[in-house]
Amino acid sequence: MTDFFNHHRIPLLAETDVLVIGAGSAGCLAALAAASQRKYSVMLVERYGFAGGTSTQMLDTFYGFFTPGTSPRKIVGGLPDLVVDELYNTGDMFLRPNTYGAGTGINYNPERLKLVWDKLIMEAGVNYILHTSLVEVISEENERETCIFWNKSGFYKVIARRVIDASGDADFCALSGFPFEMAGEIEPAQSMTTTFRMSNVDQQKFESEGGNKMMKAKMTDAFENKTHLLPRKEGSSHEMCQPGCISTVAVKVSGLNALKVDELTKAEIEGRKQAFEYEKFFRDKVPGYENSKIIGLSNQIGVRETRRVYGEHRLTKQECLSGKIPESSVLLCGAPIEDHRKGSDGQDETYWEYIPGTGIYGVPYGTLVPVGSRLTWVAGRCFSATHDAHASCRSMAQTMSMGQTAGFAALLSLKTDCDAKDVDVAMLRNNLVRFGQILEVPDFIADTSRKGWINNKNRS
Ligand SMILES: Cc1cc2nc3c(=O)[nH]c(=O)nc-3n(C[C@H](O)[C@H](O)[C@H](O)COP(=O)(O)OP(=O)(O)OC[C@H]3O[C@@H](n4cnc5c(N)ncnc54)[C@H](O)[C@@H]3O)c2cc1C
Repeated sequence: MTDFFNHHRIPLLAETDVLVIGAGSAGCLAALAAASQRKYSVMLVERYGFAGGTSTQMLDTFYGFFTPGTSPRKIVGGLPDLVVDELYNTGDMFLRPNTYGAGTGINYNPERLKLVWDKLIMEAGVNYILHTSLVEVISEENERETCIFWNKSGFYKVIARRVIDASGDADFCALSGFPFEMAGEIEPAQSMTTTFRMSNVDQQKFESEGGNKMMKAKMTDAFENKTHLLPRKEGSSHEMCQPGCISTVAVKVSGLNALKVDELTKAEIEGRKQAFEYEKFFRDKVPGYENSKIIGLSNQIGVRETRRVYGEHRLTKQECLSGKIPESSVLLCGAPIEDHRKGSDGQDETYWEYIPGTGIYGVPYGTLVPVGSRLTWVAGRCFSATHDAHASCRSMAQTMSMGQTAGFAALLSLKTDCDAKDVDVAMLRNNLVRFGQILEVPDFIADTSRKGWINNKNRS
């Protein structure tokens, strides 16, 4: 905490039981879970003008609901299902079956998802504030946290009994003095990616000329023969909900720190430049793309990792690869380790390692509790994990599950008047399961072949 703020002079915006910082996939679910009993006041504060974070800023596919492989299992449920139900009801999602990569994805229209987040948050009775950033934390006093926010109207303070840091960058935890690892400190940080969308793609022609396999071969050729200045040989594109439109995750910007604004500025400029080099490549080389153009870039460059908090438990690669579900587990993950990094030849590449055995592991409660925490949880991509464990457990079905867990844990700690680190995990697990969270390997295979949506109520 700095002396810059005399917080007694800063106007009070609200006093709340639960304050959630950041309305990404983790933060939205944390707020929905905390508001689910309508017993405690919940406030959700977001720095941009819409909710969703990465889910709406740059992406269109939820991974992590299903395990990869030929026998997919659905391993996430509860409130995250509600989000997909909403998208399903308006025809704004489809299943994109996949046995490799991160498995079957749930493709959605990200613009519709912005509305879905608004709707669910408002209906839950959450005090929802946009365009407002956390800038300072006044240390814990009288079992309360005082947080200072800034928006176009000035500085405001919010006093909260419990705080869930879902800022992606662990801003609250860093300002409060909780220890964290900065990505890049121990192992190289994962690269950043500007995603882009193209319209007027002749999908039929693309498929008849060899589809993704053909596209990847052309990418490698363009990279190796330097016909186009692509940053890497790999990269993926996929169809969107909107006919004739595709979305790509191909751009790579490495070696820059997303929490240093001069480096982030460089990354944004480089990401946009690469995106339009890809546009040229697609139009020149890939059948079906001759008349296509970029219609949208991600709102900001995609940041895979920055700060990762040191928690009461730290998820490791060994735990992921053990395929075990410990008693303290509060969510499941089956996504492989997918590490976007520089190879020994200096080229950007993606390293994959799949979870053996059942292909599923459990994530302990302590990964959401900063070391020694009394009033605070961390949820989403800044949770407590090593670099490689994080590279597996960061898909949005998992970040939503983390948010769901943190929200219910905050409720339990208020109800039983205990610290975050002392929450009764068995009771928390019961509550989660009652709400539909899945904490055991399901005994049935999910039929992901038919593009529709299968939630827990509709086993197949
Ligand atoms: C390029 C890229 C591709 C990916 N591809 C996929 C994919 O296809 N499928 C998949 O499932 N996962 C994918 N992931 C991973 C996944 O998207 C993220 O791990 C996940 O979305 C993180 O969610 P989060 O809620 O933790 O953080 P974020 O989505 O980053 O949300 C954090 C929120 O907090 C807000 N915020 C930040 N600081 C403050 C502050 N100080 N005050 C107020 N608000 C603040 C932000 O604006 C944001 O809304 C990808 C990630 C990247 C970067």
